[in-house]
Amino acid sequence: MNLSPRLKKIADFVPDGRVMADVGTDHGHLPIYLVSLHKVTGAIAMDVRPGPLSRAQQAVAVYGLQDRIELRLADGLAALKPGEADTVVIAGMGGPLIRKIMEEGQHMWDSTGHWILSPQSEIGEMRHWLEKHGFSILKEDMVSDAGKYYVIMDAVRGSMHYDQEYEYVYGRELIRENHPVLRDFLNQERTKLHTLHCKIGAHDSKRSLARMTELEREEQLVQGALDAMGRNI
Ligand code: SAM
Repeated sequence: MNLSPRLKKIADFVPDGRVMADVGTDHGHLPIYLVSLHKVTGAIAMDVRPGPLSRAQQAVAVYGLQDRIELRLADGLAALKPGEADTVVIAGMGGPLIRKIMEEGQHMWDSTGHWILSPQSEIGEMRHWLEKHGFSILKEDMVSDAGKYYVIMDAVRGSMHYDQEYEYVYGRELIRENHPVLRDFLNQERTKLHTLHCKIGAHDSKRSLARMTELEREEQLVQGALDAMGRNI
């Protein structure tokens, strides 16, 4: 099973262990890869839609892994019981949906060792959410895949607090280690925001002024993260 660079990075985040659960498994590639490599002894692959789940079921059968990968039609974590999985992966979805799945899956918070999360939007809000609900981010990684950027985080039960808002928005761990992919992303963002700033600067409607204030805040966050990375060299 060949994984995309994004899924491969997510797979690397799953600790060797007993059972992993994949929420929103879609094609089932992640559990198939992990079980085939014996990185985990078993997997529970779940999806809310019957179409993707049956695709995953067929793929599992092709690899002959029916005895080690269980498929469940389920919304979020509803069909998972405490103690059933050491690691839960929730990837390939927007941040608001991942937060909703986490909130509705509170019964799993304490028994799951690692939460491997890869929100594709509102990533700063995800980090704030984790802090507020008693999770701590152990490590993070960032990957560029087919022209898009993806963040992957390993969250465990614990406490965390960052001093700067840019650390929530862009990831304290990534900033600390001067992550090259984050640096590329921030440089791109800086150019994009600067271009937008110049375009909007030509208008003086109320809406443009509000957008301008928003852009300035975003530019400050990007610059804050880049400056902090500069200090880490
Ligand atoms: N996790 C895979 C990945 O990262 O490549 C697949 C991501 S795919 C874009 C999103 C999948 O999540 C879809 O198969 C969708 O049906 C499923 N999904 C969306 N909402 C869900 C929910 N509430 N519970 C479980 N699965 C959900």
